[in-house]
Amino acid sequence: MAENVALLGLGTMGAGMAANLLKAGFSLTVYNRTSAKAQVLVGAGAHFASTPAAAAKGASVIISMLADDAASREVWLGEEGALEAAEDAILIESSTVSPAWIAELAAVAAQRGSDFLDAPVTGSRMQAEAGQLSFLVGGSEAALEKAAPVLKAMSKEIVHLGSVGSGAKMKLINNFLCGVQVASLAEGLTWIERSGLDREKALSVLKSGAPGSPLLGAISARMVSKKYDVNFLLRLMTKDLLYAQNEATDCNVDLKTAKVARSLFEVAIAQGFGDEDMSSVIEPLRNK
Ligand code: NAP
Repeated sequence: MAENVALLGLGTMGAGMAANLLKAGFSLTVYNRTSAKAQVLVGAGAHFASTPAAAAKGASVIISMLADDAASREVWLGEEGALEAAEDAILIESSTVSPAWIAELAAVAAQRGSDFLDAPVTGSRMQAEAGQLSFLVGGSEAALEKAAPVLKAMSKEIVHLGSVGSGAKMKLINNFLCGVQVASLAEGLTWIERSGLDREKALSVLKSGAPGSPLLGAISARMVSKKYDVNFLLRLMTKDLLYAQNEATDCNVDLKTAKVARSLFEVAIAQGFGDEDMSSVIEPLRNK
């Protein structure tokens, strides 16, 4: 019989992940606060549960892919939360959340005798849809071994970083570097546009030179086209930079560049770009 998997959260990332679990043949139950987002997946064979608890019941692997600490707390521990209903399941938190929240959630899971992994991802909407994410995992070897077939169905790579919380820490370091690069690109591209340089030539120099990265290539294309269809919500990068600052402070590292980058994202949120792609962080600079 196919393994029962529950996926909680069908946003930009969760929807693609769910589709790949179905493709791989798992029996899948999905939960999303806004139920309409489950329609396509139900059409493709997923079961819909109207509460996290109902989704968790009978599942052997429960994965959540939610916005932030507050959403994760609500879905795992809130009224009709998943954790209370989990029966002998491996619990996997794949959202980008703070290591402090992971520690709290893992402690509740341990009290109930449940296996727990933090397994945030790198890759964005397209990689989620293509089953090409990378999982950054914290937790025991034994729990990861049991969860691996499910994670493999959604990914090209699974990196085991250590004990619970290691995945969450690594993810924040990763997104700290991404957020700062996106903010600096917004400033650099605005400068290019006002400098009299040929924009395409200038970007080509940057892309093929030392600052070039997959992120710089993808984000500069969106900034140039001004098409801000969501791959990564701007407000979520703001959240990641805040979590990164808090976490680094605990290691006595003051992320000054994260602070400045976050201030650019905050300005963009104030100007109404919070629900656009993070590349729209350039717009307030262009309009100044
Ligand atoms: P998203 O599209 O905004 O989806 C967020 C999900 O969280 C939705 O299912 C949403 O439900 C749910 N949610 C939010 N607040 C909630 C609450 N209080 N109670 C219950 N559910 C709540 O975000 P995403 O892009 O899929 O990202 C999901 C996570 O992965 C985030 O932590 C993000 O930082 C991380 N991530 C994103 C990317 C990316 O490129 N997009 C890449 C790597 C990691 P509704 O549909 O009802 O709003």
